[in-house]
Amino acid sequence: MLVKLGNLATGGNLRVSIRCPGCGNVGTFEPLQNVTDIHVPPGIFLGQRMCPNPACKTHVFCVYSSTGEILRTYPPERIDFDPKGIPAPIVETFMEALTCRAEGLHVAAAIMIRRTLEELCEEKKATGNTLKDRISSLQATVVLPKELFVALDDLRLLGNDAAHIEAKTYSSIGADEVDIGIELTKEVLKAVYQLDDLLARLRALKKP
Ligand SMILES: [Zn+2]
Repeated sequence: MLVKLGNLATGGNLRVSIRCPGCGNVGTFEPLQNVTDIHVPPGIFLGQRMCPNPACKTHVFCVYSSTGEILRTYPPERIDFDPKGIPAPIVETFMEALTCRAEGLHVAAAIMIRRTLEELCEEKKATGNTLKDRISSLQATVVLPKELFVALDDLRLLGNDAAHIEAKTYSSIGADEVDIGIELTKEVLKAVYQLDDLLARLRALKKP
């Protein structure tokens, strides 16, 4: 295929909006100085960009259309996640779920979401023979809205479907199921580990 260097007339070297694979923030990524995008006719461009966050500056290769729509980035864009206050084994497992999702590996992401729940139960010393039992006993050790406990069980079922071909709670495991699973897991982790920290910081700002 004919490949020619892009220019502004053909839509190349555009600024693009990307969620940074490094720092997780959304930013307007500028082209690198003196590096021209490659134009793959009719309307695909390949370019290099840098995160505008001065503390990050992650180098990203991107594939985008002539209207600036991002088709792919390397490393892939990742759903943002704040790991503050969350124990390392849980963060490590959940980050793997986010990486699988970013790569479009939805079944693997659902399995890692389930494993994140297992790590949560272990860290909170919730015991039981099965994950269902452990989630049940988790209610004695953590305070969560009832809805989030229900969500934990749904996430467990999503992971079951991902891990066992005979399980069929969900009709399929795709981007939608995994994205909701990730959002719910973030809410659970936030409620278990991050709300206390936030409250303590607010209280520290009160007058003595
Ligand atoms: Zn960044």
